[in-house]
Amino acid sequence: MTEHIFQLIDDHFQEMVDIRRYLHERPELSFEEHETAKYISQFYEQLNIPYETNVGGNGIIATLEGGKEGKTIGLRADFDALPIQDEKDVSYKSKNDGVMHACGHDGHTAILLTIAKVLTSVKDELKGTVVFIHQHAEELAPGGAKPMMASGKLDHIDAFFGSHLWVPTPLGTIDTTKGNFMAGVDRFEITIQGKGGHGAAPHETKDSIVIGADVVSQIQQIVSRRIDPLETAVVTIGSFQSGNAFNIIADTAKIVGTVRYFNRDVQETIMKEMKNILQGLCVGSECSHTLSYEKGYPPVINHEDDAELIMTFSEQIKDVKEVREVPPTMGGEDFAYYILNHPGAYFFTGAQKEGHVYPHHHPLFDFDERAMPIAAKALIQAYLNYQEK
Ligand code: MN
Repeated sequence: MTEHIFQLIDDHFQEMVDIRRYLHERPELSFEEHETAKYISQFYEQLNIPYETNVGGNGIIATLEGGKEGKTIGLRADFDALPIQDEKDVSYKSKNDGVMHACGHDGHTAILLTIAKVLTSVKDELKGTVVFIHQHAEELAPGGAKPMMASGKLDHIDAFFGSHLWVPTPLGTIDTTKGNFMAGVDRFEITIQGKGGHGAAPHETKDSIVIGADVVSQIQQIVSRRIDPLETAVVTIGSFQSGNAFNIIADTAKIVGTVRYFNRDVQETIMKEMKNILQGLCVGSECSHTLSYEKGYPPVINHEDDAELIMTFSEQIKDVKEVREVPPTMGGEDFAYYILNHPGAYFFTGAQKEGHVYPHHHPLFDFDERAMPIAAKALIQAYLNYQEK
């Protein structure tokens, strides 16, 4: 049975590539993916299985009931693109100026649609139910996963699985891990309100650049001096804007950055320390400040026994040569929301294109399309393995 399904996936390879390239030429930004959503819903219309649009935004869910009793599994693919100019010289280059599928979500969509088509053709033989979750807006917080879950339309699902085509990983390799897999991602924005003035009369001013520089260096001590060294955390300041002339003392400074963590206590400590540092420095220098701390995607924490179901892929899927249990990455993913209170696991499907090593979100990003049938088989295998659990 599984062999037959995998053969069907292989038979649909060209169609999968065609879908991927069609979408690659027509990328849409997060929360603006109306045409892509229309394309996906038309696909389900033709498959003739029940589907629902506008789930938590542009999200779409379709349901396939198998002919036999079993559990309900959600398989998720995201479908938004990025504000990046496509600089590849290929026939399927983006036709939408300044927008590009630079993360592989076009591939994710092609994979899930093909799985839906293949499984529909063998549905009488299937145990349980598959819910195909096409999620909008993964790239931009607050993201699409949260509102899709909040819609309540996924509450009945027993377990969620998802995969990211991953170019740092070689073709034929799958990476996952039990427990902490991808970090929680927060964003913060600080403004320092000093008192501007003449560059020649600093004593009459409150120099927001000098105070801001202290803020930057003290914040760097949170991870090194306030967090348990056995915990994991990142605080990165990505932007510091202030002043515009060589002889004027800047009135305000704006500092923007990101926090990454796995443990909620670590997140709380970072927030608390950031507030303390700002208060202390601003009292000392008689300036005022604002801190806006936005909690973003929670960490992706794979349920151990569901990650276990992925570890066996190399014995079950001919194209999977190796499953590696890898260390966590500090990148984030809103897949986290699905498995926050439900079983499930996330994994990376190796999609490295030989001789073309541009990372995700790069203007020359591309992946090896032969990874798509591998990811499709892997997601199907996760579904089958969970039925037997
Ligand atoms: Mn992505």
